Order: sequence, then C-alpha cells, then structure tokens
Amino acid sequence: MQKETLCLHAGYAPKNGEPRALPIYQSTTFKYDSTKHIGDLFDLTAAGHFYSRLSNPTVDAVEQKIAALEGGVAAMCTSSGQAASFIALMNILKAGDHFVSAAAIYGGTVNLFAVTLKRFGIDCTFVDADAPAEEIQKAIRPNTKAVFGETLANPALAVCDIEKLAKVAHDNGIPLIIDNTFPTPVLCRPIDFGADIVTHSTTKYMDGHALCVGGVIVDSGKFNWANGKFPEFTEPDESYHGIVYADTFGKAAFIVKARVQLMRDLGMTPAANSAFLLNIGLETLAVRMPQYSRNAQKVAEFLAAHPQIESVAYPGLPNDKYHALAQKYLPNGCAGVMSVVVKGGREGAAKFLDSLKLATQCVHVADIRTCALHPASSTHRQLTDEQLAAAGIPQGLVRISVGLENADDIIADLAQALAQ
Ligand SMILES: *Cc1c(COP(=O)(O)O)cnc(C)c1O
Repeated sequence: MQKETLCLHAGYAPKNGEPRALPIYQSTTFKYDSTKHIGDLFDLTAAGHFYSRLSNPTVDAVEQKIAALEGGVAAMCTSSGQAASFIALMNILKAGDHFVSAAAIYGGTVNLFAVTLKRFGIDCTFVDADAPAEEIQKAIRPNTKAVFGETLANPALAVCDIEKLAKVAHDNGIPLIIDNTFPTPVLCRPIDFGADIVTHSTTKYMDGHALCVGGVIVDSGKFNWANGKFPEFTEPDESYHGIVYADTFGKAAFIVKARVQLMRDLGMTPAANSAFLLNIGLETLAVRMPQYSRNAQKVAEFLAAHPQIESVAYPGLPNDKYHALAQKYLPNGCAGVMSVVVKGGREGAAKFLDSLKLATQCVHVADIRTCALHPASSTHRQLTDEQLAAAGIPQGLVRISVGLENADDIIADLAQALAQ
C-alpha cells in the first residue's frame, strides 16, 4: 500500500463488531489464565502484552504503523525523541565504545552525545557530514560501533547524504542510525538509502498538533548483528535464561533487545493515551507534509527576496547549499522549517520575533500552526560559540516553522514584522 493508505490503515484492523477507531488500552497490565502462560511471556517464548512499561496494544498499533511507513521490520515508541536517540545508541554501545556523528544535528542530541553519554564512558566524534567519505572514514576507530546523522538537520537545515554515511558505516561493519524527524517517512525513507536504524521525535510533524512529546525507533531488519562486532546480540543474555537475540529474533533482534533489556530497565515508556493522540496525527501525515512544504516554499521565496533578510536556509530554494541533495533525498518537498538570518544580528532577530502577530514564539517546531524561535537564546543556549558555528547557527538566526495557515496570511505577518 502507498503511504496515504498506510497512514490510515496500517497497525490496526478491527474485526467484526470492534471499534472503528484505535481504542486507548488504558491498562497497566493484562490478564492471563495460567502461571505457565505468564512464565512463557517472561521467558520471551510466547508473545503478548503483560505490562505496559514493555508494551501496550494502543502503542503497539502505532509502532506497526510507523514501521510500515518507514519500510522497517519493527518499531518501538518511546516517551520522547531524546529517549529514542538514547535507547537506539545504548542498544549498541557500552562503556569504552565510540561512535561518529554528523556535527549538524539537533542541539539536544549534541548535548546527549557530547556530555551525558561521555559520563557513561561512551565517546562521540563529531564530523562535518558534507566532507568526502574518505575524510569521515578517518574518524572511525577499532571501537567505533555506529554512525549517526539527521536527514534534515534541526535547525541548520543541512541535508544529510545518507548513502555516503551508509557506505562509510557498512565498510566498517557498523550500522547507520538516522534521525528522520523533519522529513518523516512521507518525504524521505532513510532505509531506502541504506540506513539501518531510524529514529524520530514524534513530537514534531508526526504528532503535528503540539499535543504529546514522544519518540520512536525503527529497525530496518537489514543489519547483520552477527558480524562479530556486537557480542550482546550473539552471546547469551543471562537476564533471560541465556537467550541469544540474533538467533532467536532474527531480523527483529534490534527492537526486541531494545524493548526487553532497555525499556524494561529504563522505562522510557509512552502512555497509551499519547500513542492514541499520535495516531490521529499520523492519520493525516501524508496529506500534511506536502502542504507544509508548499507553504514553506512560498515563504522561503518571499524571505529570500526581502531586503531585511541576510540569508535563508531552506533546501527547497534553488541556490541553497543543499538543493542538489534535497532533489535526491526530498523530491516531494523539504517540510516546513527554515532558518533565516535577519539583518541586525541578535537585536534584529528579537525585534522581528516580538513583532509577529500570527506566528507565535514557541519552543517547538513542526506544529500545524506557524511558529518561530531564536535558537541561540533558547534550544541551543548550552552550546559553546564553536559548537554553534559547527551546527551552523549564527547569532541572528531565526528558526521559522511554517504551518498550515494560508501562505498569504503567513507572508503578510512576516512582512509587517520585518517592516518593524
Ligand atoms: C525535537 C527533536 C529531538 C528531540 O525530541 P524530543 O521529542 O523533544 O525529546 C530529536 N531530534 C530532532 C531532529 C528534533 O527536532
């Protein structure tokens, strides 16, 4: 089925007389008839829900829908996008290991990689993902276990050359993890270009309505965890009577291991009610993404021609640095987010933002309503000047997330604020 159809129907198919809409299974636990059956669930020899920290039918339906949209074999929802990034990496890495990440990624992810994972004994090298493969290869060490990138970087709007990173990763027998938050599978499916694991902050376009913080990890099922570099997949797990993930779960080994080890122990679980709301967002995702893109294209063209604007980063613009990569990876649109440098630096940006009437200042992007933010004084406050520069964030940069209002109304609002 095509993505429009999957958005509506994947993951939940009611039987005769059952609810048409996905029900909210508001229950922590599930009833079984025998100690034997419950024992089998704990031994992972039977499949089924037994406690909502690990799995829940509402969440499960959403996971199946997202896995289908991304073209993966399985998915696991998490309580936030940060939890998804954390679990995706911790499922592969342990203290003493190293991984390589594109430098132009979401600020919260930079913090997680550079500060918090370091405290767990895991080292990250940030690389310029625009560099040739041979340059990126130089960052790989014997203990490097993964490569990480973001399809469309928040807020630098750099388009990641996924095939190039996949080649570097696979030449070294390690997986490529791609954060696909901004394009969503409607505009780009990283697995089609060689990504092994895909993560999302579902808080953004997937939810779309600014209702619930959430995340998801999708497994392509294509990576060979038994290549000798990942003993946790091929050696017995004593916490499950010696189960061997790669043997027992085959293509689904990554998600099963993430769920039964890390979700069990860390509990970064989404609520059933949140999954229900996320599902409503997903139902219209295939309709919304092209429309965000069309609106943003008009707004970007207006701003690029405006005398009060220094520069606009939006890969849909023909002279954008990433336009050629966007034509390859985002042929159906570049979503709604753009980064704009307003004349007058930090103060100019503040005056512009404070003058907006329709667009609101929110610590959020990818909302159905147009919103704007100054990253240097908000989301990216923790970064040093060098890290800001490496992430492509000048002081006067404003991040604009174009919503689904009429594009003419959005442009009129931006025009009056720029006039101020
Ligand atoms: C927002 C965001 C995250 C973090 O997700 P949360 O849901 O806020 O925890 C990760 N990656 C990208 C690209 C994001 O935009």
